[in-house]
Amino acid sequence: MTTLLIATRNAHKVGEIQAILGGQFLFLTLNDFPGAPKVIEDAETFSGNAMKKAVELAKWLAADNSKLKTQNSKLNFVLADDSGLEVDTLHGAPGVHSARFAALDQNENSPDADNNAKLLRLLKNVPAEKRTARFRCVIALVTVPLPKIENASPVCFADDFEGQTELFDGTCEGRIILEPSGKNGFGYDPLFVPDGFEKTFAELGDDAKNKISHRARALEKLKLFFTTKQPRNKEL
Ligand code: IMP
Repeated sequence: MTTLLIATRNAHKVGEIQAILGGQFLFLTLNDFPGAPKVIEDAETFSGNAMKKAVELAKWLAADNSKLKTQNSKLNFVLADDSGLEVDTLHGAPGVHSARFAALDQNENSPDADNNAKLLRLLKNVPAEKRTARFRCVIALVTVPLPKIENASPVCFADDFEGQTELFDGTCEGRIILEPSGKNGFGYDPLFVPDGFEKTFAELGDDAKNKISHRARALEKLKLFFTTKQPRNKEL
């Protein structure tokens, strides 16, 4: 079975990714690697940040081959998701800064409630028809080296990581409502109504969200990649 390390500690993201990808994979998360480095997400694009998270983690893993074999399984891929909300009237903000929109320190995430309050404040006098927005997600998938190659230097793997990265993207169009509604999900879910619906992601719940979300659409492409392409890790 293919083992994926999901490069996040966000339990909601992990839950969504597992629910969407289903039983064909074995999942690990950063909680299985407490010593994993904290990656600063300072790229200007979702793809840049997703790639940075996946590649830095894969390099860290490769620096010590013993980390690649965990919990009776062989780690095959690192999967990193970078995602966020783009609001048209705010020229695409909060965008790559979605997780830390309200924070003073731009390297630290801010609580969802603070981010939502800031968004509503900025949209205070914006009429309904101009509150269009979309969630965007880019997923980076990096092959990790096989643990058996004991004499190979981590540096020789490291040079290749960027070249071994596959990117998958997904968007979900919608609009920002006037006040939070609903208790499910995370982040901006209580404020976002997807096109074709009258309820927010937080009201629609996991099953409905996981069929139409930006993350679901990116993960569908990743699934297709696994079913149609020859994975590079020859032992799969
Ligand atoms: P990341 O963990 O750096 O990718 O930050 C993603 C941030 O974007 C989250 O902290 C949320 O604020 C927002 N976000 C991304 N995906 C979703 C979603 O599915 N629902 C609500 N907010 C999301």
